[in-house]
Amino acid sequence: MTAGGSTDGPLAWNVARLLADEPGAERLREVSGVTIDLGEDLRLAGPIEGRVRLVRTNRGILAAADLRTALDLACSRCLRDVVYSVEVRLQEEYLPSLDLATGRPLPTDDEPDVARLTDHHELDLETPVREAIQLSEPIAPLCRPDCPGLCVVCGLRLDGGAHDHPDDDIDPRLEALRGFRADDA
Ligand SMILES: [Zn+2]
Ligand SMILES: [Zn+2]
Repeated sequence: MTAGGSTDGPLAWNVARLLADEPGAERLREVSGVTIDLGEDLRLAGPIEGRVRLVRTNRGILAAADLRTALDLACSRCLRDVVYSVEVRLQEEYLPSLDLATGRPLPTDDEPDVARLTDHHELDLETPVREAIQLSEPIAPLCRPDCPGLCVVCGLRLDGGAHDHPDDDIDPRLEALRGFRADDA
């Protein structure tokens, strides 16, 4: 997946040679089988796939990512596992942190918010990709749009069809099952 030198991260590329090219020059980088850590509350259901176009601009490198992956979520109504597809399309310009000719640090104080290449001329997309994936997480994922959820009396899933029981007649075995499912989810 990587080319043009060793890099630190699964979504990082060394762009030293592209920086030496004329503005408008570009490289395509395939992204395949990449996984990143999304923190404690969120998990990928599959690898990140796609490609990233790296374009030399007047000031630095523009990265245009076209990626897809999936999140491992739970239905907000019935707690069933949901694999949620995510597309990540982002563009971000990275400016050098070192002067290419002299190797000296460039002043960055006047533009503290722009993305920067590393001291080794690496462009690392992991953070913006992580943030884009985190932002794509739905507030209330559903296993299907009309998921009927759980029975409020016994906790069983309602999509097996209607079932009857008198109010307050909670079978202790079902109560135990409900606890088991909550742990399992
Ligand atoms: Zn559901
Ligand atoms: Zn019930």
